[in-house]
Amino acid sequence: MSGTPERLEAIAAVTKYQPSSSPLNFVETPSSELFGSNVFSMKVMKSRLPKEIFKRLRETIEQGAKLDPSVADVVAAAMKDWAIERGATHYTHVFYPLTGSTAEKHDSFLQPDGQGGVINEFSGAQLIQGEPDASSFPSGGIRQTFEARGYTAWDVTSPAYVYENRNGATLSIPTAFVSWTGEALDKKTPVLRSMQALDKQARRILELFGHSEISMVSSTAGPEQEYFLIDRNFYFARPDLLNADRTLFGAPPPKGQEFDDHYFGAIPERVLSFMLDCERELFKLGVPIKTRHNEVAPGQYEIAPVFETSNVATDHQQLIMTILRTVAEKYGMACLTHEKPFAGVNGSGKHVNFSLANATQGNLLDPGDTPHENAQFLVFCAAVIRAVSTHSPLLRAVVASAGNDHRLGANEAPPAIISIFLGDVLSEVFEQIKKGGTKTSRKARTLKIGADVLPTLPMDSGDRNRTSPFAFTGNRFEFRAVAANQSIAGPLVVMNTAIAESLDFMATNLEKATKGDPKKLNAAVQKLLKQTISEHDHVIFNGDNYTEDWHEEAESRGLPNLKTTVEALPALTSRASVSLFSKYKVLTKRELESRQEIYLEQYINTVRVEANLTVEISRTVIFPAAVRYQGELAATCANLKQLNYTFDTDTLDHVTELVKGLQDSTAELNRLLDHEGHRNILAEAKHACSKVLPAMLKVREYGDKLENVVADDLWQLPTYQEMLFIK
Ligand code: ADP
Ligand code: MG
Repeated sequence: MSGTPERLEAIAAVTKYQPSSSPLNFVETPSSELFGSNVFSMKVMKSRLPKEIFKRLRETIEQGAKLDPSVADVVAAAMKDWAIERGATHYTHVFYPLTGSTAEKHDSFLQPDGQGGVINEFSGAQLIQGEPDASSFPSGGIRQTFEARGYTAWDVTSPAYVYENRNGATLSIPTAFVSWTGEALDKKTPVLRSMQALDKQARRILELFGHSEISMVSSTAGPEQEYFLIDRNFYFARPDLLNADRTLFGAPPPKGQEFDDHYFGAIPERVLSFMLDCERELFKLGVPIKTRHNEVAPGQYEIAPVFETSNVATDHQQLIMTILRTVAEKYGMACLTHEKPFAGVNGSGKHVNFSLANATQGNLLDPGDTPHENAQFLVFCAAVIRAVSTHSPLLRAVVASAGNDHRLGANEAPPAIISIFLGDVLSEVFEQIKKGGTKTSRKARTLKIGADVLPTLPMDSGDRNRTSPFAFTGNRFEFRAVAANQSIAGPLVVMNTAIAESLDFMATNLEKATKGDPKKLNAAVQKLLKQTISEHDHVIFNGDNYTEDWHEEAESRGLPNLKTTVEALPALTSRASVSLFSKYKVLTKRELESRQEIYLEQYINTVRVEANLTVEISRTVIFPAAVRYQGELAATCANLKQLNYTFDTDTLDHVTELVKGLQDSTAELNRLLDHEGHRNILAEAKHACSKVLPAMLKVREYGDKLENVVADDLWQLPTYQEMLFIK
């Protein structure tokens, strides 16, 4: 390999890499002992809180009872002592602003005692509410800067934890972030609200099925996170990775992912060390990490925890991303959670496995063994189908981002068309229910609700239909269109709320039909399921979602295909969305409008930063390399001519043409960036999508062609080959 001195140095740094920290020892401290050791868990609370206080707190956590403020002082004192024993000096209210990241402001426990000394203090009031000066977070017009007050409020249902740094530790308290007027400014608040809505409606169904003891129903989520790891030396040598988390230039490497030799392959030594360290940190924080493996693209990996209730899973997912990024540094690598860091190889997604469950009835999307259980399962399953069918534009909108636009529909991830995979057996069951009782299909086998046992549903091996955006996998659904870099809050809020609405509709129907008589339930369920599936089965598709045929068929079925973020986001403020979210008190019209505005702004900013970087790299990195090479070729040509040799100018001509193309396309991109004066944010976003992005691609086209001809020792940017294969 030739390469510039900088690139060669980076390569040498990788090949000579030595771990800087001492090895971990799981024999000394087994993971079972580590697990949750930094969490202020139920167990810790039970042992440290007075019995009565613990009981009341537990009612809030497990049953959604209102929190009594008098409890807070006692809890705060216990939490502080526990945290200080673990080396904590500060506490922070961790919150989740609409940027999709995690935010925190740290405060010390120390309080001057008025006599020249200090005491450690942490009151109930400080535990319950914080007031970060968070005026710089986007609020989408909800908060003007002059009334910038936003409050963080303790989320009792997500446990506090101690976050370690080698030089100290911080007591971290998950919180919701709301405005002075109580409007949601964050990702967590609507998750909590939507879980309440879901609980209420799911219980009505369970009551209809005659359950006497019904505990709080929650949605459960198990998110699988895909990510890339590359050496930090390469990362820092690429302004695009450093600033945009994805490469804006880079010719395809001679070898890509075509051999499928990376998928599930042996994990490289340094990467495995990194994974073990991540897992260890996450175990301490009570995040139940379960699986790790290589993914499809070279340099791509996956980490997945065991599922938890949606709210906790969402917070833990944020922690997973934080830990991945910080621990990677320790091993001399950069972790990329961007959806498409490298063109030409697979991007990264975050499959969100999803179900409904409670402590008394268990997983509500598990078919069960008796006809009665099966009938109940079918009602919940049909509620999900109805929810996805009714609100598919919303499901599409909450996975929309500049990064995810590169993935969805690119034959590596589901298309932007939201449909459901049920598998053959369950589809057949619903088909029978649909036909049941109709005159035309008297001969068809029909399933009698409450009498027949369902055929055994095969558990999806996970890979059976990777092309579906929303797949039933035997006892849960898997939403596969979610983006690697996003919070899972948005998708969960839509699923919770849309399913709550369906359950509400179904419960109302069944309550009316049975009028309190359980004997009428089976017939009522049969009728309701038939009606529901007849209205909504156009959203079910078990075939290959990647094919052109499906795109055509989906169109004839009337399923929307919103290909870009700009097309997808307006659904957030559609009539259907506003009415859904306000009915269940999850998000008001104003909150929805503010969200839409913030996400559009994020889209515009992302594209703008990428475009600026494209111009910069084109002009200051690629162009200079190209003209130097052009100069060398020209000089050789002139010299040879003087000696009366002929010189084949093909390469020189080609380079000259590409340099011209690079210059012109860069100038055009710059012109498009300079433009101003679109009246509204949606128009601006459309401009970014339909004008700026294609212009960026044009510049890239010339840049990548130049990479393939310019002498390697003049080429400064680390290549795809180096970044993806040198580990
Ligand atoms: P695959 O790669 O085959 O899709 P993984 O084992 O990587 O499967 O991930 C499956 C995820 O689904 C895990 O996070 C698992 O905990 C989660 N999961 C399993 N059951 C449920 C459930 N009832 N609700 C939510 N998530 C679940
Ligand atoms: Mg999966």
